[in-house]
This record gives sequence, C-alpha cells and structure tokens, in this order.
Amino acid sequence: MSKAKSQEICFDPELVKRYDGRGPRYTSYPTALQFEDAFTAADYRRIAEASNDSDRPLSLYVHIPFCKTLCYYCACNKIVTRNAERVQKYMRHLGQEIDMQSALFDRNRKIEQLHFGGGTPTYLNETELRALMAHLRTAFNFDESDAREFSIEVDPRTVNTQMMGVLAELGFNRLSLGIQDFDENVQRAVNRVQSADDVDGLVWDARDNRFKSISFDLIYGLPHQSVATFDKTLDIALEMRPDRLAIYNYAHLPARFKGQRMINDADIPDPQTKLEILHHTIDKLANSEYVYIGMDHFALPGDDLVKAQENGTLQRNFQGYSTHGGCDLIGLGVSAIGSIGNAFMQNTPSTIEYETLLHEGNLPIKRGLEVDDDDLLRADVIKQLMCYDRLNFATFNANNGIEFRDYFDDELARLEPLAEDGLIALDENAITITPKGRLLLRSIAMIFDRHLSRAENDGRFSKAI
Ligand code: SF4
Repeated sequence: MSKAKSQEICFDPELVKRYDGRGPRYTSYPTALQFEDAFTAADYRRIAEASNDSDRPLSLYVHIPFCKTLCYYCACNKIVTRNAERVQKYMRHLGQEIDMQSALFDRNRKIEQLHFGGGTPTYLNETELRALMAHLRTAFNFDESDAREFSIEVDPRTVNTQMMGVLAELGFNRLSLGIQDFDENVQRAVNRVQSADDVDGLVWDARDNRFKSISFDLIYGLPHQSVATFDKTLDIALEMRPDRLAIYNYAHLPARFKGQRMINDADIPDPQTKLEILHHTIDKLANSEYVYIGMDHFALPGDDLVKAQENGTLQRNFQGYSTHGGCDLIGLGVSAIGSIGNAFMQNTPSTIEYETLLHEGNLPIKRGLEVDDDDLLRADVIKQLMCYDRLNFATFNANNGIEFRDYFDDELARLEPLAEDGLIALDENAITITPKGRLLLRSIAMIFDRHLSRAENDGRFSKAI
C-alpha cells in the first residue's frame, strides 16, 4: 500500500491485469473519435462568435509539428525535418490562422492560458519564437499577470541556458521537459540520447528564471528497461525535484506507428516487468511526497494541480490535468483541437491540407462536434471521477437538475461488479473511487461512455496501465 500525504493508492496486480483493457484517456468527453466531418468552418465561426456573449477567458494551444530527429517510440503528429523553408512556410500559414482566429473573438477576452505543444516547439529558433509570440500578443489580449499559465513543451536537446532566459522573457512560466528515461542503453534504443547533466543544468536555469512549475515526462515499458534501471532514472529525476511528473505507459503499436518498427520487440519488457516498474514507481513517488493527481500524473504538495484538486477547480483538457477549466480553448496549427462553449473542433492533421485551406482563405477546421445535454452530463460524471475520485449524487443532482440514480440506473448496475472487486465504493450517497481503483480511473469512467464500442476500442486507445 502506498500512501501519499492525503491520498492512498493500492496496487493490486490481479485487478490491474483484469481491467487492463484499452480505453480513452478522457482528455475530453466525448473523445476526439466522435468528432464528425460534417462539422465545418462555418459552424466554428457561428460558435466562436456566439461565445463572445459569455465572459469566459481564453486559452490558446499552438501546435509546432517539427522535430529534428525521430524518437522511435513516438506516436505524435510530427514532421521530422531539417528543411528550414518547410518550417518557414508552415509558420507563415500559422500566422495567417492566428489573424483569422483572433478576428472571431472579442478583444476583451483575455488569454489566461497558453500551451505550445508538438512535435517540438523548441525546434523554433529564438528569432522564430520571438516573432510568433509577438504576433500572438498583437492578435490577442494576453493576461500578463502572475495568474497566467503559459507553458511550453521542451526537448532538452534543443534548449540551452540562453534560450531558457528567452522563454522566460517571452512570458512562459511553466515547462514540460521530455525526459522519458535517463538510462543510456534505453536512450540509444529509442534514438533519444540526452545527458542527465544537461537536464539538470536546464532545471537550474529554469529556476534561475523563476519558472513556476517544471514538469518531467517519463515513459515506462521502453526497450531494455527493468525495475533496477528505472529506479535509477527515478533517483536522478527526484534529485532534480520537478514540481510535476507524468509517467506514461509505452504502447507498442508498430503496425500503426512506423517509427516503432525500429524498436526490437524482444527488447521490450514483458507485461509482468512493466507492472513491477509501475508498482515500484508509484511507491517511490509516494514515499518522496508526490501526490497522485490521477491518470499518470503526480505533483508536489504545493503545486497548483494539488491545490486545484483540493479546492475543486481541477479539470481535464487535451494536455491532461489543468487548473484553468473555465476557458474557451482555441487550437492553432495543424491537428490542433479547440473547445468553445459546448463544442469541440479539430484542424486538419495534414500539413498540406492545412496550408492549402489557409492559402485559399479558409479556416483549416476538419471536424468537430456540438455536444448534446446527455454528453454534458456524462462529461461532468467523468470529470468528477477522474479529477476528484468521487461523485456525490445530491451535489450532481443540484448542479445538473436530474436524479442521478434514475438517469444512470443502467450504469450503476454495471458498476456493481467493479464495486465487488473493490475499485469503487457504491452507496446511496456517492460513488467513491477506492485506493485500488485510483490506478484504473479510465476503466471506471468507461462505464459512462455511451459512445464506446468494442470495435472502436480495439487497438485505437492505449492500455489503461
Ligand atoms: S517524442 Fe517528441 S521530439 Fe521525439 S519525435 Fe515525437 S514529437 Fe518529436
């Protein structure tokens, strides 16, 4: 049994194996699989303009798809290139999209949250990053106060001390560093070699530049990993004391992701070893005072994610857990997802189509979804379970104007076996996720997903653990 400050996680290998199906991560509900091609740029304009009647602040996601080299495990939408002209062409079109999008939103709506993801946002050089941020600041009304949450995904191989200063100067105050593993043997096998000393130097640079939060991404299940090797990686990471840690499971799907064919199947740890790595990781982080937020995410007690979980403002969005859930999210760049009011929308994942549409003066929206009342209820259920481990029926009824036990009687019946297995406690007042269920949040949430079908589920989602 692992025990964090105010939370417990109980690792039960039998339950983990039994519930280890594939499932969505529920960064949205409905998930992106439900988005429809019938949703058009005209729908988006209508929804964006109507959203100005609200006082919701704005959040921006900016997708920079380029990477200099291929990490073999990668399942992201990225373009591996060193062709500067190709990058410049994309940046010109991104600039055009920024102008078209900003024209849709009232200037008084502040950008409280900004996230640069990829690909590798730090693929861009200082001049390109400065130009992009200047353009965004002109086009939108940035919140420049300390309350802003401006984050960027950083590939440590692309950033030095001077660049860290530039990122701070541009207004970023949160970093997410892609570490994956510090073991050289593992790094070579996935074609991503970076030294712990370099990462340590960047962490010091980030602290010198007063970044509020530093997050490390690690991956377990990579070739040549064992409990012993991953333990050393954790030791090195914990020595640097990141504010947040995200520990992802590597899903080996070489039939879908070509780069993964470069990984030798025989080098991948077997399922039992993966479970042991995960178990060890959870124990080690709990014993190092990290709080388990949920779904692969851990944070130090003073971190904003922990505070948000305590004060009821934690949300899930396309980057995982978030503290700014009340914003409308504008997605910028190829494949970027937005969320405005009660609708989701996604730009085309094809760079060629993205640039062609913009060249012709069209927004590059490819698909989307206007959610109905039933979806909204289910999204609220899934949020309560994934963010707070508990759903109180009376509170839910008061907030949503329904009788939970009647509306979800079928789902409550389907939860009973999970209650018998000890994943949840079910009584007349609430659903409460138990320490055993906390690692299996998505298996519990899936009960409330009316769109999920086995056929879709097969191979399109990563495993729950
Ligand atoms: S893991 Fe990140 S840096 Fe590596 S190829 Fe994928 S997007 Fe690029």
